[in-house]
Amino acid sequence: MSLRREAILREIGLGPLWKLRRAAEAAAVPAASAATERLTAPVDTGVMPTVAARSAAIAQMDWRELKASVADCRACGLCQARERTVFGIGDANPDWLFVGEGPGAEEDRKGEPFVGQAGRLLDAMLAAIDLDRRQKVYIANTVKCRPPGNRTPEPDEIAACWPYLARQIDLLAPKLIVALGKPAAQTLLGREVKIGAERGKLHAHHGIPLIVTYHPAYLLRNLTDKAKSWEDLCFARSTLAGICNLQ
Ligand code: URA
Ligand code: SF4
Repeated sequence: MSLRREAILREIGLGPLWKLRRAAEAAAVPAASAATERLTAPVDTGVMPTVAARSAAIAQMDWRELKASVADCRACGLCQARERTVFGIGDANPDWLFVGEGPGAEEDRKGEPFVGQAGRLLDAMLAAIDLDRRQKVYIANTVKCRPPGNRTPEPDEIAACWPYLARQIDLLAPKLIVALGKPAAQTLLGREVKIGAERGKLHAHHGIPLIVTYHPAYLLRNLTDKAKSWEDLCFARSTLAGICNLQ
């Protein structure tokens, strides 16, 4: 099966199933409920820095420390094949935060998110609502290192990288988050998600309004869903306008 076809199947949910997180990983990712959080409280074994200790350290970092930590990170297997980590790009005080899946080949070479074909579509979509990636917008990914062959990141890789995205969200304090595709949506909502069922609704991540939509790479192959993603962006824009009017 070609990579392209495999990616399409993954995106429509016929790829590897989203697995329930193991307890240790769940401590590092947004829990679906307070009950889950209670059940998955980390146990300090006294060996090596625990997952919880690493998350706690990352949660204290300032922007510079966070960048340096990502650049040196070897917390999951994705460190092995990467050329560069891809931290994120944009305005440090954004209204919008777009969260993608993970770097592709060009992003891995350049160290910047969404600079390949999907990135050109994202830029065009941003331009259509009068945005660009340098102003009032920040773009980040769910995992900071390229999954080999552009496969979907595994739940354990997403869990290992989550403290970085969580800290980016804390420090950036965006007014609105747009999750691009399933891995980002699932990570930010802390549960299994079908984009088709969750788009068009206003969600929240730790009190920040969150909208989910299709990933631009998926749209490149599924032109009919481009109209829906346009609706989603308009919905996001009007949501943000509403928030700004209230402030
Ligand atoms: N796809 C993503 O999800 N992120 C990128 O940075 C590039 C392509
Ligand atoms: Fe570290 Fe994230 Fe890269 Fe894994 S994907 S090595 S957790 S920066």
